Amino acid sequence: MSEFVSKNLAINEKGHLTIAGLDTVELAKEYGTPLYVMDEDLIREHCRSFRQSMEQYYDGAGLVCYASKAFSCKAMYRIAKEEGIGIDVVSAGELYTAACVDFPMDKVCYHGNNKTEFELRMAIEHKVGRIIVDNIYELELLNKLAAEEGVKARIMYRIKPGVDAHTHDFVKTGQIDSKFGFALETGEAFEAIKKALSLENIEFVGVHCHIGSQIFDIAPFVEAANVMMGLIEQVKVELGHEITELNLGGGFGIKYTESDTPVPYADYMDKVSETVKALCKERGLKLPFILIEPGRSIVAPAGITLYTVGGIKEIPNIRTYVSVDGGLGDNPRYALYKSEYDFVVANKADKAKDSVVTVAGRCCESGDLLGEGVKLQTTEVGDTLAVLATGAYNYSMSSNYNRVPKPPVLMICNGEVKVAVKRETLEDIVRNDM
Ligand SMILES: *Cc1c(COP(=O)(O)O)cnc(C)c1O
Repeated sequence: MSEFVSKNLAINEKGHLTIAGLDTVELAKEYGTPLYVMDEDLIREHCRSFRQSMEQYYDGAGLVCYASKAFSCKAMYRIAKEEGIGIDVVSAGELYTAACVDFPMDKVCYHGNNKTEFELRMAIEHKVGRIIVDNIYELELLNKLAAEEGVKARIMYRIKPGVDAHTHDFVKTGQIDSKFGFALETGEAFEAIKKALSLENIEFVGVHCHIGSQIFDIAPFVEAANVMMGLIEQVKVELGHEITELNLGGGFGIKYTESDTPVPYADYMDKVSETVKALCKERGLKLPFILIEPGRSIVAPAGITLYTVGGIKEIPNIRTYVSVDGGLGDNPRYALYKSEYDFVVANKADKAKDSVVTVAGRCCESGDLLGEGVKLQTTEVGDTLAVLATGAYNYSMSSNYNRVPKPPVLMICNGEVKVAVKRETLEDIVRNDM
């Protein structure tokens, strides 16, 4: 058993941290830092586990769609394609990347609260399986664009089910005061469904909700399924229309630090299936096709980021800053949400964590920190610092702030290292400058 937050991490005979069996200190030496390292085998294991839960508990009458905003690049879309799961995209850029690897477009859900006309056209042209419509303006625009193409757009509605997901306010999206979707309580969603059913170039297939992120309870998902089935029933009874698809979103929690206690991913489908099946039986509804959209839970535990320690600044009686060669450019999550991570000095992984420090990034912002009150082995200049469980919302949220090139992404598969994304160069930094 690993003593680390992710099971693919261990310590080798040199006392170095390993990921998927490879020495992280060696990886840092060979590929430079900062460096994202992803364990492809673990990503695939997570894809399979979600897929199997759909088979086991819902007779396979559904689709797991990887929410690709968590980590998006060609290599990742190839993995999803090979594992037979679908994807969520939220931009032309993500859709384009998926198209580059011939991703099966019928398994794509296109999300977003303000898709541009260009993006809607692109979604229609690529024949994506489901466009998740957020508002009436978008519905009407999509109807018009689909008419111009002489097709029907397959859509679902983003619904705010009003379920409290017991999570950080920034990532709670199921409540009324949210920029996403149609409100249920006010009748807005029901009226909007009536409207969608009346439009010539719209094929309304279902309803979607996403109640938040990094959720550890199963109860809010069961509650969301309950509420959404209520809407499906209302539409059947009052409009005589049977909705065939139910998308319950993602948000399954992962272990960032010791205090996080995720439930096994299969448990979500177990409990949700039970609820949906019971409700359908009780109310005489057809079993809907179910979609779920795990993002973080598929990739976060599979990744780590490696940095090199530079200056160490001890401010007596205040704190010690340990600066690294990356920061909010490659991981903005602490600056954005005060997200906590586990840190390990990779070349001293077998030593006790005998100091408490602030890990600072290299950018010109006081808020450019990766963690405060971080328990760490005693650090020295030149050490390799590993931040754990950074596979989600790190590379995908990275920027070129301060014109720092983005780190590369390595994928480890069967003990072999593949470069999934090359390190950006200084020429890349100026490539669009005139
Ligand atoms: C972000 C998002 C997800 C994935 O959330 P995770 O917390 O990464 O699992 C799924 N569906 C929608 C609509 C999202 O916006």
